[in-house]
Amino acid sequence: MSAQKGHAMKSSQIQRRQFLKLGSAALAIIPVIAFSGRAAAAINAAMRASLKYQDKPEGEKRCANCVQFVPGKTAKDRGGCKLMPGDTEISPQGYCIAWTKK
Ligand code: SF4
Repeated sequence: MSAQKGHAMKSSQIQRRQFLKLGSAALAIIPVIAFSGRAAAAINAAMRASLKYQDKPEGEKRCANCVQFVPGKTAKDRGGCKLMPGDTEISPQGYCIAWTKK
């Protein structure tokens, strides 16, 4: 093996190592992004369960006309509920047993 060929192999091995390092760094970031995405769209599962929250209305009763509803950006966007701290995914078309006419 010539010295030049040996040098070429070494530099390609180094490039491969750098590529693998970058690849693992990128893979390590993916769960963080996925997790922060989930954190932004939080649900309060315990309160949803205890108040029997559902994503559909019960007749005319819906979150949009409940006094506890905190509207989202637009009338169709999901919002919050004063009874479900931290929950940002309450549907205006949702309903739970604590519904109170606005
Ligand atoms: S109390 Fe129930 S019905 Fe009223 S906004 Fe909250 S989740 Fe919707």
